[in-house]
Amino acid sequence: MLYLVPTPIGNLEDITMRALRVLREADLILAEDTRTSGLLLKHFDIHRPMLSYHKFNEHQTVAAIVQRLQAGETIAVVSDAGTPAISDPGFLVAREAIRAGIEVSCLPGPTAFVPALVASGLPADKFCFEGFLPQKKGRQTRLTEIAAETRTLIIYESPHRLPRLLEELSRTMGDDRQAAVCRELSKVHEDIRRGTLAELAAHYAETEPRGEIVVVVAGREETPEERRERKRNINNK
Ligand code: SAM
Repeated sequence: MLYLVPTPIGNLEDITMRALRVLREADLILAEDTRTSGLLLKHFDIHRPMLSYHKFNEHQTVAAIVQRLQAGETIAVVSDAGTPAISDPGFLVAREAIRAGIEVSCLPGPTAFVPALVASGLPADKFCFEGFLPQKKGRQTRLTEIAAETRTLIIYESPHRLPRLLEELSRTMGDDRQAAVCRELSKVHEDIRRGTLAELAAHYAETEPRGEIVVVVAGREETPEERRERKRNINNK
């Protein structure tokens, strides 16, 4: 059995009882960074064999991991923080294990984008998770594509790139689009700033952003024609 196990994104109290049990019972723990996860496991007094599994070795190691699963081992995957496979390694091993007929389960647990979306106060009924936008090639194309999106958008960004991102979003989507910058979720200095893209861009041009950041942006408002079309489709179903 393969378990994908979410770990805290800041506050250690966010680990679940089940995550602790699964980690304690695993034959092997695959960790994005064995030092980072080693500290977490030590904190919870968990002592299981660990193997490094990250974006630079996942392609080479995945076949051997699937073999171990086929031989009957129970393996848990953790990333540095949050849910594996969400802008982190985990997708490849999950896919290959499923292809090999192994049972794969992901525990519910910490991830940065759900609290950011919910605390933003923007519609949470339909949303698009964008993760990190491409840094160079394809960035402008992606920005133009997501500007047309009517669902709420969730973007991961590093603090030093935040001012540029807010300025680009404001330029592509319009100054008045509502958004939220969610910093340091679950940590002592958690901070959620809500406003228009222009207001947020102006604030972070002045105030150097620190810590880990999720940006949530309202979707584009539907045109009356799009709204009529959507309602027609719902009624026809
Ligand atoms: N697997 C993680 C998850 O489930 O959210 C995401 C890992 S990704 C490499 C790291 C990014 O997640 C950060 O750059 C930031 O955008 C976001 N993030 C992680 N922890 C956060 C926190 N405590 N507050 C705000 N954003 C966070």
